[in-house]
Amino acid sequence: MNIALIAHDEKKELMVQFCIAYCGIFSRHTICATGTTGKIVEEATGLEVQKFLGGRQGGDQQIAAIIACNEVDMLLFFRDPLRPKPQEPNDMNLLRLCDMHNIPVATNIATAEVLIHGLERGDLEWRNILK
Ligand code: PGA
Repeated sequence: MNIALIAHDEKKELMVQFCIAYCGIFSRHTICATGTTGKIVEEATGLEVQKFLGGRQGGDQQIAAIIACNEVDMLLFFRDPLRPKPQEPNDMNLLRLCDMHNIPVATNIATAEVLIHGLERGDLEWRNILK
């Protein structure tokens, strides 16, 4: 499965902790991420992460493009609900594209936990079957 990661600045540490906690599961899948999120996750976990451009440079749009092509199987997008910054990834377009292809998406850690356990249990195997 191809898992995409995006974390707003206030949520980057949380994303790193999440990826450390579930490193064993992530290691059995491919991971891609916006630039800074990918860099810090890679450094903290040793996982191989395909890094797109930074969010401000259009990395979120690169991820949106592969979601539009149905090439992402799960999106973990940790948003900062309190202080969204103008340059930060556009939530609605990413979520809309996930809805188009029934791509599981988590915008907070509580949902991400459910998805990652579901992934481990095989709940997302239907995506492989569709392909
Ligand atoms: P980044 O992109 O991982 O490159 O920081 C996400 C963001 O801009 O919040």
